[in-house]
Amino acid sequence: MIQTKGYAAFDATTDLSSFDFSRRDVGSHDVLIEILYCGVCHSDLHAARNEWRSTVYPIVPGHEIVGEITAIGNSVTKFKVGDLAGVGCFVDSCRTCNNCRQGLEQYCDTGAISTYNSLRLDGKTQTFGGYSNNIVVDEKYTLQISNRLDLPRVAPLLCAGVTTYSPLRHWKVGKGHRVAVLGLGGLGHMAVKFAVSFGAEVTMLSSSAGKKNDAEKLGAHHFALTSDVETMKNLNMQFDFIINTVSAPHDYNTYLQLLKSDGVMVLLGAPPTPSQINAFSLLGKRRTLAGSLIGGIKETQEMLDYCAEQNIMSDIELIPMNEINMAYERMLKSDVKYRFVIDMSTL
Ligand code: NAP
Ligand code: ZN
Ligand code: ZN
Repeated sequence: MIQTKGYAAFDATTDLSSFDFSRRDVGSHDVLIEILYCGVCHSDLHAARNEWRSTVYPIVPGHEIVGEITAIGNSVTKFKVGDLAGVGCFVDSCRTCNNCRQGLEQYCDTGAISTYNSLRLDGKTQTFGGYSNNIVVDEKYTLQISNRLDLPRVAPLLCAGVTTYSPLRHWKVGKGHRVAVLGLGGLGHMAVKFAVSFGAEVTMLSSSAGKKNDAEKLGAHHFALTSDVETMKNLNMQFDFIINTVSAPHDYNTYLQLLKSDGVMVLLGAPPTPSQINAFSLLGKRRTLAGSLIGGIKETQEMLDYCAEQNIMSDIELIPMNEINMAYERMLKSDVKYRFVIDMSTL
């Protein structure tokens, strides 16, 4: 077994703190990654605090992992020792269902094995995530990372990046489309960057007046404060797509009104409690309410390569490991700029 140092939540209400555990030995298809940086996703917070009611403690969150390969198994072909590598939200899946075969492992029929708070395919070994100094992953579920980009700023691409890239590609968003991004946090700021890069006209819808300048710096063409009733009224029936990244419960009907006929609102945010939908919010204009979950391995690699080519990275605040609890509190106040990334050398 490999000894690992990490940070864990031991229950839903206590701060995260040090936790030593072990990882499996490097198998023939595995790589051992020394983790250099790990992004902090709002999903980490939902999970650490058991907001989705599915947490098994202790939990080591973290699924925006970048690092360096320090050992490889005999059959590994994609990586060599010294290469950069990334790990996202899942580390395995059944590999045989239709979704897995099509590279949509995130929608695996039996459920992809999440990077943390999951059981491995053996049905008994708990997975632990990236708030730690190393991880062992099958090379098939490991991403190649270009050394052209700034590594800490690449980490958030492994979740926030692919989660926003995937639906924009799926719905073929581009030139001629008017897109609204709801919520300017980790996912929101990447959604703005990608939608602008794909040629869409982008409006940032935010509950934080103070984020206007930043939204424009990120490339948004327009900014609207969601509490401004008059502005919101003027946006009725204006958008082809809304990328909804809000992490807290809110009224979907309010935002569905902003879609044109045949417009689509894609839910990415995963608030812990359900929201009511008024049928008339959808049927009057043949609107669609959709959802999207991260992205498969093939698409994640495609997104990382696109980012390397286009010089797209996350805007981050680098923090030491022991500031994670402060980061969670700031995230809850919508005070993120626009992703916390942990410098793992501080562990
Ligand atoms: P984040 O960085 O905390 O950003 C969320 C943003 O939502 C906030 O910055 C804020 O933006 C807005 N917001 C928060 N509370 C709000 C409220 N009460 N009312 C209105 N707006 C509010 O979170 P994130 O990491 O981007 O994650 C966002 C959500 O996506 C989380 O629920 C997360 O679990 C989920 N997620 C889903 C996937 C997927 O595959 N679908 C992947 C990753 C994360 P403004 O200040 O601009 O209003
Ligand atoms: Zn995430
Ligand atoms: Zn599968």
